[in-house]
Amino acid sequence: MQRVIKCDKCQKDFIQKWINRKKQWSQINEISYWTDGKKWKSYKFFCRSCLNDWFELEREEFDKLIVDEKKRRIYASYRGHGAFDKSDASN
Ligand SMILES: [Zn+2]
Repeated sequence: MQRVIKCDKCQKDFIQKWINRKKQWSQINEISYWTDGKKWKSYKFFCRSCLNDWFELEREEFDKLIVDEKKRRIYASYRGHGAFDKSDASN
């Protein structure tokens, strides 16, 4: 199962996947997942390329918001595996 949602940063539609094992939508695209509930501007959902830009282009914000070591490791591992480079466009 998957649904199409809009990236709050670039305004593009992207696909969020349902994770059966966890019985919830993939949290990779949710800002609050990474920040442990902290808000970043009014952003809620990020597409993969904006997630990548977060680290690359807005490192200061990234470092301020993602303070959980475990989350930082998960993020680094996604980046390392190229997960943020994959296309998740809906069309
Ligand atoms: Zn985006």
